[in-house]
Amino acid sequence: MVLQTVEILKNEIPLEEESVLISEDAKAGLVLVDIINGFCKVGAGSLAPREPNRQIDEMIEESAKVAKVFCDKKWPVLAFLDSHHPGKLEHPYPPHCITGTDESKLVSELSWIEEEPNVTIRRKDCYDGFLGSIQEDGSNAFVDWVKNNKIQLLLVVGICTDICVLDFVCSTISAKNRGFLGPLEDVVVYSKACATFDFPLSVARESKDLLAHPQELMHHVGLYMAKGRGAKIAREVSFHAPKKL
Ligand SMILES: [Zn+2]
Repeated sequence: MVLQTVEILKNEIPLEEESVLISEDAKAGLVLVDIINGFCKVGAGSLAPREPNRQIDEMIEESAKVAKVFCDKKWPVLAFLDSHHPGKLEHPYPPHCITGTDESKLVSELSWIEEEPNVTIRRKDCYDGFLGSIQEDGSNAFVDWVKNNKIQLLLVVGICTDICVLDFVCSTISAKNRGFLGPLEDVVVYSKACATFDFPLSVARESKDLLAHPQELMHHVGLYMAKGRGAKIAREVSFHAPKKL
């Protein structure tokens, strides 16, 4: 019954996805959003899944595959890690991913990227990685990364589709449209390598502070809204022919 409702709602905002081919000579960059224990691993923290979750597991698997391709090619990768100072809350969420804890570390499937020379790690203490990249001197680490690497195509993956991924995509596209991101042309969200959390209405009703967040629907809405801002939504990503993910 629940599934039927989700299908009805999805039909009201149908999402067309495309196959994206990234050619060898494309200046492509990969952004990994918050693929950390605290959002992905069962029992890892207050915002971690409470039981194994297929959408999140698939997101990790696909993200790791894409990261491997980028690292093999020595193409630029930027990983955002949600990391908060203790005592500094991020309303409406409970304390999570405190700096220095396992919660704010990359999942084991991706921890190897920290040793890769083409990878930049950026800790952020807000939803939006674009805003989280503003540094004390007013410069923006993400903008600098795009410009220094002359990135034309940005591939975005991670969690949560409708929160940190979406916020980052929206800010990035606005900045691009204002001419702040140099050569950047395309922002591509790879849907299979994105996920969001599951917090059904039946559970949310038990607490007056928490919003219901049905996973399937919110994932779809996140992708739909990213597309509405001008992102491409990729059902599949391939790198030149014939290597397919
Ligand atoms: Zn956070």
